[in-house]
Amino acid sequence: ADVRNLLLSRIRDVPDHPQPGVVFKDITPLLADPAAFTVLTEALSELCVRHGATKVVGLEARGFILAAPVAIRAGLGFIPVRKAGKLPGATLSQAYDLEYGSAEIEVHAEDLEPGDRVMVIDDVLATGGTAGAAAELIRRGGAEVAGVAVLMELGFLGGRDRLEPVLRGAPLEAL
Ligand code: IMP
Repeated sequence: ADVRNLLLSRIRDVPDHPQPGVVFKDITPLLADPAAFTVLTEALSELCVRHGATKVVGLEARGFILAAPVAIRAGLGFIPVRKAGKLPGATLSQAYDLEYGSAEIEVHAEDLEPGDRVMVIDDVLATGGTAGAAAELIRRGGAEVAGVAVLMELGFLGGRDRLEPVLRGAPLEAL
């Protein structure tokens, strides 16, 4: 409960960003507080260990900031999952639906190997579309999904229900 309250106290609600009617959860106050950032890194690292992860995926862009220190702390390799067109090597791509339109994310195929158990890390789970697409990429790369771990889940958007079938029993953990 203490961890939860510390983390919550460092997340700022920004009304009408990026568009009217949306309340954006801004984690920059948390990142600027070394005590809170350390607690978050340790909590996510514990989840990686508990679920037997051998690698971590960070989702561009805020997921990179969280997953990189977790990778170091837990002694795991870091894999970037990026928006389409950014990674220079041979990639796997996965398209997914947004509320309006669609998006595509990519991973370097060589970063995923049979036997890997990969934890997907991001700041916010909203509709679950991004995390679900990342899980598909991991499996198409021949690896296993250890789970999805996020700082925060926006429960009212129903992301958990959308994600669970894609996760096939792997855990969704929200701090
Ligand atoms: P989803 O695919 O709808 O679950 O959206 C998740 C993605 O959008 C994540 O990569 C988040 O970083 C980002 N996102 C959605 N809503 C917020 C928010 O309120 N704050 C920060 N990031 C958000």
